[in-house]
Amino acid sequence: MIMDMVSNIKIERSATSKLPSVDFDNIQFGKQFSDHMFVADYKNGEWTNLEIKPYAPITLSPACAALHYGQSVFEGMKAYKNEEGEIFLFRPKDNAKRINVSSARMCMPEFPEELFMEALKKLVEVDSDWVPTKEGCSLYIRPFMFASEELLGVRPADEYKFMIFTSPVGGYYSGEVHVKIETEYTRAAEGGVGYAKAAGNYAASLYPAKLGQDAGYRQLIWTDAKTHEYIEEAGTMNIMFHIGDTLITPHLDLKTTLAGITRDSVLTIARELGVKVEERKVSVKEVVAAAKNGTLKDVFGCGTAATITQVSSITHEDERMELPALTDRMLSNEIGQVLQDLKRGQVEDKHNWIFKI
Ligand SMILES: *Cc1c(COP(=O)(O)O)cnc(C)c1O
Repeated sequence: MIMDMVSNIKIERSATSKLPSVDFDNIQFGKQFSDHMFVADYKNGEWTNLEIKPYAPITLSPACAALHYGQSVFEGMKAYKNEEGEIFLFRPKDNAKRINVSSARMCMPEFPEELFMEALKKLVEVDSDWVPTKEGCSLYIRPFMFASEELLGVRPADEYKFMIFTSPVGGYYSGEVHVKIETEYTRAAEGGVGYAKAAGNYAASLYPAKLGQDAGYRQLIWTDAKTHEYIEEAGTMNIMFHIGDTLITPHLDLKTTLAGITRDSVLTIARELGVKVEERKVSVKEVVAAAKNGTLKDVFGCGTAATITQVSSITHEDERMELPALTDRMLSNEIGQVLQDLKRGQVEDKHNWIFKI
């Protein structure tokens, strides 16, 4: 059945390409979109109208359910190109699985993994010239699904759109990242939707993040909703602490933290490097104590957008703790390098993480 659908992906190529207008030496994040997009419609209990067509605005009813009640989930992934022109995706099947974890929580239909993979592969093939070759650059891929039904009643919608578009991106902005431990606002609560990559999670985080930015912090470190004593994530990334000889990160058991693919990759590589790894509750208290007694060697966020973002200082209740110089972050620098080499197909891929287009 699914294989039938796969062969049914219609391809309509754009008459002209926007490629000549792109300055690949100065790519701005999320401002330019490749020539094509994938679209599928969910109607009468099945996915239909599977199509790759020119990237263009879509028409929606003002009563489109996603706009009112927020049934909307997404994914973020990247395609890389090496010097030989080969294109690689990093662990795309994990994204295919995760969007269905997110959509199940939001009462949205499953998008079959095989179909996700086939649509992704075809779309990247069609726009393969859009994948940048330059080191640090990639093609950002945004799969997403939302309720498209014209519906004012509050219930799970019966109609959805699943789409994928792509956008060439440059190296992520680096520079000093100063963060604050948030003790008033909450990103996710137990029983809530923190483990889903749901659009509403991002909407809810914008206001506290803005307050933080106005006060001079690039990111907030989110803490648990009940006590604000345990650390969960950093902005829209997972967070890791290198304390003494151990790499420590918040566990996923409470479902308040998103199960990042970068997070899992970093933990796997660290274990292979012989580093002790702990996934558990991480208290603000122990991080502050480690910063004070000099055992806090490193703090970094991890996610697809920036891969690894090292933190320069952490502020907790007006107390600012400076972290070691970025050049001294041996572990995250090493893991970052391994990940980068892997993603561009330059080292042996023991885990079958690399998917060649
Ligand atoms: C997407 C996301 C991450 C990172 O996940 P990756 O799979 O590594 O990109 C972490 N936290 C939140 C809240 C996210 O939305």
